[in-house]
Amino acid sequence: MNQVFVLCVGEKSVPRSQFLYRDPSPGNIVIAFYFWVVLCESGPIVVDCSFGPEEASRRGVARYRDRRELLAACGVTPEDVKTVFVTHLHYDHWAGHGLFPNATYFIQQREIAFWQGPGRAFPLFSASADLAAIGALEPLRKAGRVKVVDLDWSVAPGIDARLMPGHTPGLQILRVETANGTALIANDTFHFYENLAERKPVQVTVDMLEAVRSMDAIEKLGAKNPELVLAGHDPVVMDRFPAIAPGVVRVG
Ligand SMILES: [Zn+2]
Repeated sequence: MNQVFVLCVGEKSVPRSQFLYRDPSPGNIVIAFYFWVVLCESGPIVVDCSFGPEEASRRGVARYRDRRELLAACGVTPEDVKTVFVTHLHYDHWAGHGLFPNATYFIQQREIAFWQGPGRAFPLFSASADLAAIGALEPLRKAGRVKVVDLDWSVAPGIDARLMPGHTPGLQILRVETANGTALIANDTFHFYENLAERKPVQVTVDMLEAVRSMDAIEKLGAKNPELVLAGHDPVVMDRFPAIAPGVVRVG
């Protein structure tokens, strides 16, 4: 049966108002930075690349953990990884792609088009990306290491990808059948559970209407096992599941 793990690379204190659209409440909240591992019959699938220590210090991420150590807790070495499912191309999900020398990256066509066009051109969007990592897309594609996907698609038995636009145009999420039920790696469809409950996206959202519609879709998709719907950045995820190592929990 498929297994799902959440791996936490670090955290940061951020203004609450930036992460709940138009919320007037002052003060800060803690955001956690995750990536995910799905173990299935055909081998490990890593969901997002996260980022390395240089990007972490540049962005002020605290309590940074080495990704190789986190992966080892799941029995995975970066060199083993053939499949990386890329949810979207913000720095905290894509900048660290260099860790996986043998991987093919599965990315939505509209996500690539956005970041090679307006996403790159307008500072409003490009501030959330690592432009060197965006620039690496084309050489990786020429080397046959980017698999461009479109809309919903089937990844492996019991593992499906769904397009959930809004936060970015080509954000895709994973639905994974596990022994505990169906887990949703909802990623940045919502960062915190409060975003989902209030239907208030984060400020870094390309299309607000699509973002709230994607939240509706997530809630429907996860209705059977709401406890297995995983927020993209909420620290509470680490408290809801058993830890198998520091910074790693097992969902199912
Ligand atoms: Zn993110």
